[in-house]
Amino acid sequence: MSYVIPAPEQPSLPVTSSDQMFPVHRIYCVGRNYADHAREMGHNPDQEPPFFFLKPADVLVGPNEDFPYPGLSRDVHHEVELVVALARGGGDIPEASALEHIYGYAVGIDMTRRDLQNEAKKLGRPWDSGKAFDFSAPCSAIKPASAMGHPNNGRIQLKIDAEIRQESDLDHMIWKVPQIIAKLSALFTLRPGDLIFTGTPAGVGPVNPGEHIQAEIAGVGELALFCR
Ligand code: MN
Repeated sequence: MSYVIPAPEQPSLPVTSSDQMFPVHRIYCVGRNYADHAREMGHNPDQEPPFFFLKPADVLVGPNEDFPYPGLSRDVHHEVELVVALARGGGDIPEASALEHIYGYAVGIDMTRRDLQNEAKKLGRPWDSGKAFDFSAPCSAIKPASAMGHPNNGRIQLKIDAEIRQESDLDHMIWKVPQIIAKLSALFTLRPGDLIFTGTPAGVGPVNPGEHIQAEIAGVGELALFCR
């Protein structure tokens, strides 16, 4: 097989304790999956369930890379999230067997141009320019489930310049991981290499050039990110 232009590079993430990489297919994200975050965004989590949106795979920022502050925005927000990495795909995956599809877990940040997202919401337009921009998905190395099991609780935290901005527990997720996989696989045929950003707790806020972000999920990993 040869191509008429150079083929795009395969987006990938490192795997902890391995020199092999995890190839990334798609990036799915869950919106408003923690009640306190839904409320801080002005929504009632008892009336509006979580939902899905996507980012392109090539907007990943790997560990040890910087986050370049994007143009056309003056209000870029951090959203720390547990990331699920799939080893197996499928459609209509039952909750009961959903965990068998998981390769591992990582710590991700769903970077958001909040000003552009709010403008899109107001106009009833898609979120892509607020959510799916270049470098909008920083992510740690993936830790295999074989090395850690499947976390359903544990502290999730984000600091900026050593000050805690977001802190919660994974057990506060509205849709738990098996339910997310079941619901998502009813909408899309999932594939090996898919990542799922599972939503953020309250405390989202701006990040600015020159600031150091430190994100951590107990038992999963850490992600240190410099905003330039
Ligand atoms: Mn998010």
